[in-house]
Amino acid sequence: MAIINGKEISAKTREQIAADTQKLLEETGVRPGLAVIIVGDDPASHVYVKNKKKGCEQVGFHSEEYALPEQTSQEELLQLLDRLNADPKIHGILVQLPLPRHLDEKAVIERILPSKDVDAFHAANVGKIMIGNYDFLPCTPAGVMELIHSTGISVSGKECVVIGRSNIVGKPMAMLLLHENGTVTICHSRTKNLAEVTRRADILVSAVGKAKFVTADMVKPGAVVIDVGMNRDENGKLCGDVDFLAVEPVASYITPVPGGVGPMTITMLLKNTLTSAQKAAKGE
Ligand code: NAP
Repeated sequence: MAIINGKEISAKTREQIAADTQKLLEETGVRPGLAVIIVGDDPASHVYVKNKKKGCEQVGFHSEEYALPEQTSQEELLQLLDRLNADPKIHGILVQLPLPRHLDEKAVIERILPSKDVDAFHAANVGKIMIGNYDFLPCTPAGVMELIHSTGISVSGKECVVIGRSNIVGKPMAMLLLHENGTVTICHSRTKNLAEVTRRADILVSAVGKAKFVTADMVKPGAVVIDVGMNRDENGKLCGDVDFLAVEPVASYITPVPGGVGPMTITMLLKNTLTSAQKAAKGE
């Protein structure tokens, strides 16, 4: 019945990133640099980009923002990526998704140098995650792992259930739990008897995108419940996938929305950018 405070854990992690950034700068003269590209004027995407920029300032990174018009061509975007790939001041490149429909998202992601792909979406980085030999972890699942670690509960041998199988959240999430020796089940829209499966979970991660999707009867008493969902309720208020008021008394630990997984995602992006800069400083 404890609430995992993502804001607090995120703030502590950012303090450490800021200290490590200062150390890297003093010892090698390298300041981590992140370039964020946004195409079009989706308001939610602009909020995310603003928060990423703020995060960079907080930890002492160099940051560059490229706000491109909706009608930007594939070629223009790829040219910008080539330029940033070659820029030694930039250690991380992030293209805010989704892109306008006329742009080929897959080709754009694949154009980012894997060593600067701090979102870990490039196929080369996804492959590295599969074999457990990675430089970057995808930000949201990595943030979830930090939150689970904060409870002091070991994943090893636990029944872990992930609801959702997207490339961004569900699949890499399952892989990270597996790396820590969880017994992992992935559920999706074709899963039969979902509640029966989720009730087995000692650790339940929901990444579906539907408000009040996870109800109390789907949760094993004492489970750790991590809510990745970011939805709007009937009043337009930000909420997760989990029916928080009903599930909170059943769970041992639970993340709120807002203030749970959300703050960790950008923190993990900053951590990946720092890692990339540290590697660049070593000439790797
Ligand atoms: P997505 O690509 O839409 O994937 C949703 C997944 O949920 C799919 O795998 C889908 O199954 C599954 N699903 C849908 N209905 C279901 C049902 N009735 N029963 C079981 N599974 C069902 O979404 P996403 O990108 O992974 O994001 C998921 C949520 O996390 C969204 O709310 C998003 O906003 C949020 N999110 C938050 C953060 C953060 O920083 N906190 C970051 C990323 C995403 P199928 O594959 O069978 O369709």
